[in-house]
Amino acid sequence: MKTLKDAPSMKGKKVIVRVDFNVPMDEKGNVRSDKRIRFSLPTIEWLLKKGVSQLILMTHIGRPKNNEPNLKTDKVAEKLGELLKEKVVKVDNWGENGLPSDKIVMLENLRFNPGEKSKDENEREAFCKHLASLADFYVNEAFSNSHRKHASMMLPKHMSGFAGFGVEKEVTQITDALKNPKHPMVAVIGGLKADKLGAVANLMNIADDVLVAGALAFTLLKAQGKNMGSSKIDDEGLQEMGDLVKVINKAKNVYLPVDAVVADRFAEDANVKTVSVDQVEDGWMALDLGPKTIGEYVAKIKNAKTVLWFGPIGVFEMEPFSHGTRMIGRAIAESGAVSIVGGGDSASAVEKLGLADKMALVSTGGGASLEMIEGKELPAIKILS
Ligand code: ADP
Ligand code: MG
Repeated sequence: MKTLKDAPSMKGKKVIVRVDFNVPMDEKGNVRSDKRIRFSLPTIEWLLKKGVSQLILMTHIGRPKNNEPNLKTDKVAEKLGELLKEKVVKVDNWGENGLPSDKIVMLENLRFNPGEKSKDENEREAFCKHLASLADFYVNEAFSNSHRKHASMMLPKHMSGFAGFGVEKEVTQITDALKNPKHPMVAVIGGLKADKLGAVANLMNIADDVLVAGALAFTLLKAQGKNMGSSKIDDEGLQEMGDLVKVINKAKNVYLPVDAVVADRFAEDANVKTVSVDQVEDGWMALDLGPKTIGEYVAKIKNAKTVLWFGPIGVFEMEPFSHGTRMIGRAIAESGAVSIVGGGDSASAVEKLGLADKMALVSTGGGASLEMIEGKELPAIKILS
């Protein structure tokens, strides 16, 4: 992967940067958190310092259907301008009129153009080519979208492209953890859906121990024939992943819970008790790991030199079921291991617990980092090499 350090002189050149300014917005289109914008500042400031003649920024926001005004990029351009203390010019209709010559310009929401994520490869390619024609160099600073072949991600087909500092950090750290881990390496995989089974299957060949948690764990226990009452089981995902489940169930280093906190309703004020996973009754749902499982998992994490954590341990949003996530999160933070956390809800759990600073990396890109730990190559990263 070529990074900015490999780039030739950018002085006097036009550089187009794919950023991820897909920030949370209110109904009026005001930016509710500028975290993602601030995240890209090192790359943007570096390019400006190198004397580029024009910096063209592009992002998607949300999932527009009819070019909704609240998904326009005006407000993120304004926010970026405030942070940089420079003028950032938002450009509409740049397809027809070309770009103004201002130093920093921000294109309209990429997804307002059907070519950005069209299923038709030719339509995507035409848009990709058009974007590439706007500049001399391309920078990918949108790790979270790098598992997708969207037009704006693939400009290096037509021009030199480099990873921005944020992309470089995420890709390098996750790749190092997978290719070159310090042992013992422990993977903790939780969350809601069976979509993380691919990660379990890949990591069981890399990590010393894979600790399964979340609804995913109870889904696997159900696949083993245990009664899981009314637990949130991803039956559909389980069916799709059927063959993987057999392989995973045979692995000696994949651990499943032995006890659980069960509730009679999906509610904070439900009746709650702790039971063995063999004793979940009809009408009860497993919403967190039990103390015995937490103890076993924590003991393994304490010894680890590398930890990957994807997916919350229980329903951490509700106090009675947040114990597992808190205990496992703290154990990871205190282990001294190189620890990588991925996934939107996992990232918010880590932040809620005040542990984000203790982790080597809290990945910004849930889907992209998940694909990496599944052992897949990210197309928008591959094309940077
Ligand atoms: P991420 O966004 O980190 O990839 P997921 O989206 O897969 O994670 O899963 C997060 C959700 O999983 C959280 O909202 C949490 O409440 C839920 N969850 C965790 N454990 C359970 C469980 N045992 N039953 C139901 N939901 C669970
Ligand atoms: Mg999620």
